[in-house]
Amino acid sequence: MPTCPHCQEPFTYKQLLPFAWKPRVGILCTNCQNTSYNSASMKKKATLILFIFPTLVMLKELFNIPFQIMYIIFLVVVIALIFSLPLAVKPTKEEEPLW
Ligand SMILES: [Zn+2]
Repeated sequence: MPTCPHCQEPFTYKQLLPFAWKPRVGILCTNCQNTSYNSASMKKKATLILFIFPTLVMLKELFNIPFQIMYIIFLVVVIALIFSLPLAVKPTKEEEPLW
């Protein structure tokens, strides 16, 4: 589980869930009361998620997969992303610019 960069206290999954999807919002540590921000490298990796959806469409066309099955695959991918992204968060002390 990701930890606070100020005091090394591990964040809870419940704290990280909104933090992972709102990259401009800091996360307040309940132990040291300091704010941490998502790292620039993690923000860049999160943008790669957008390429999953065109890839799914290409796979559908390539293998002629029925729409119903693609719909289920799409839902599974979206749900897996929503719940796994908080575990990949790397909090930093300062808000890093993307470039
Ligand atoms: Zn802390």
